[in-house]
Amino acid sequence: MDYGYFDSGNFTPEEMIIAAGLVPKRILGDSAITTTVEADKYLEPNLCYFARNLLNQAITGNLKNLAGILFTHGCDCTSRQYDVWKVHADVKDLYYLNVPLKRDKIALKFLLKELNRFKSHLEKISGNTITNEKLEVAIDQCNETRSLLRELYRFCKNSSPVLTGSEFFRVIVKAQTLEKAVANELIHAKLQEVKQRVPTGGKKFHVLLTGTPLDYPDFIELVESCDLDVVGVAFSMGSDYFARDVEKTGDPIGDIARFLVAKPPNPTKHPPDPFLDFVLDEVKEVQADGIIYQALKFCEPYLYDSVYILNRFKEEGIPALFLEHEYTTQGLASLRTRIEAFKEILGGTK
Ligand code: SF4
Repeated sequence: MDYGYFDSGNFTPEEMIIAAGLVPKRILGDSAITTTVEADKYLEPNLCYFARNLLNQAITGNLKNLAGILFTHGCDCTSRQYDVWKVHADVKDLYYLNVPLKRDKIALKFLLKELNRFKSHLEKISGNTITNEKLEVAIDQCNETRSLLRELYRFCKNSSPVLTGSEFFRVIVKAQTLEKAVANELIHAKLQEVKQRVPTGGKKFHVLLTGTPLDYPDFIELVESCDLDVVGVAFSMGSDYFARDVEKTGDPIGDIARFLVAKPPNPTKHPPDPFLDFVLDEVKEVQADGIIYQALKFCEPYLYDSVYILNRFKEEGIPALFLEHEYTTQGLASLRTRIEAFKEILGGTK
């Protein structure tokens, strides 16, 4: 049975959900929804449209087939949404996993306690015991997913990419919503197919996309339709999801905790510098000509940090475009002129 998670970063211990005999499934918004009447009854108008979209689905019963939903401590919006969902959502079970802001020994101790508390909860709702053996198998499966995605990502990066950013992103979404064994088979098959492709010469300019966690490919497709190759997807549902593996030491819950504490926190937690360093490293690696930093309307953490982040790109001498956008696909078309103007700017830098 599927077990959903609402995570504005990547703090969900998917391995534990798998070890409980459940399938971790990132819950996604529905960008085709243009009105969120039910959610609007309970949320103030200046709350992020992604969370609004999810609450609307939860109230209207779209998520009631899930065994439960995990909220991780990401942005403030996610945390407060948990309180709203407890009262208004039509779902089977809700759980809140607290994730420390700091990255030290005390944080690790705290997270270990939280993970053990979550383990007991998963055992209760699934009726299955989570053993170390099951956790080790789940870690292997998730590490395989991450490793396959890293391998596939290489085909977006070349100077003449054979895999488009939007095509790759569709695969990433599957990896975060399907059973891992199925997803791994699918990515493996995609890899074999992509390896046979003959490069036809990429577009003149390559960009890296970062900012608010995107969960639908339309934004990437829009950028590509402006004659730009998206060679990097450095946001939480993108490369941050598969950048690192859990290192196994024979203590699986400890290994998962160390993995979560070691990763750079997403900019939903302050300061954004560790994540920025991750983005800048990736810009070099994928040899992007510029960065598109996009933020969803009312996405507080990414908008709050945008000036600081854009200044840092400027200091590094990387051309960057900032775009604030709506959650619906219809709202995206109005961004085309700005993306095309950015392409002209990139032309002047080469
Ligand atoms: S879009 Fe922004 S504010 Fe909304 S849940 Fe994601 S990180 Fe939080």
